[in-house]
Amino acid sequence: MEQQKQKGTEGKEECHLCRITYSIFSTFPSMPSAMALNVETGDFFPMDTLHSYSTGYEMAEALGYAWACNCRERSRQRFDEQFVLRDGAGRPFTNAHYRVRVGPNVIASGVTDEEGRTQRITTKDARGLSLEIGRGT
Ligand SMILES: [Zn+2]
Repeated sequence: MEQQKQKGTEGKEECHLCRITYSIFSTFPSMPSAMALNVETGDFFPMDTLHSYSTGYEMAEALGYAWACNCRERSRQRFDEQFVLRDGAGRPFTNAHYRVRVGPNVIASGVTDEEGRTQRITTKDARGLSLEIGRGT
């Protein structure tokens, strides 16, 4: 599928999230007493701060949902992690079978190495990620 060039973005393709965020907050009236919420950290900040940003992405970052952005530095936005499995005494679970799920979907599975590490897990959204461990077969 070919992507259509968007109008008025100077060749840059912004995702819906960035465009919509920008279109909402760039035209918001100034409200000196209004507070906005960063949904990721739970911190409030002055709503007018959003006017100081020139892109929807920066606004989305301030609001705490930039992880959902689809158009910027994808690699940085992606969750890319390796788990190390240890037991209560800090000993690694070696050769443990594991499965990593996002909701009902298994996105990775394998056996941990001699240090209890899984393979690197790359996913767009780490929320809802769960790890299942089975010992031996
Ligand atoms: Zn974006």
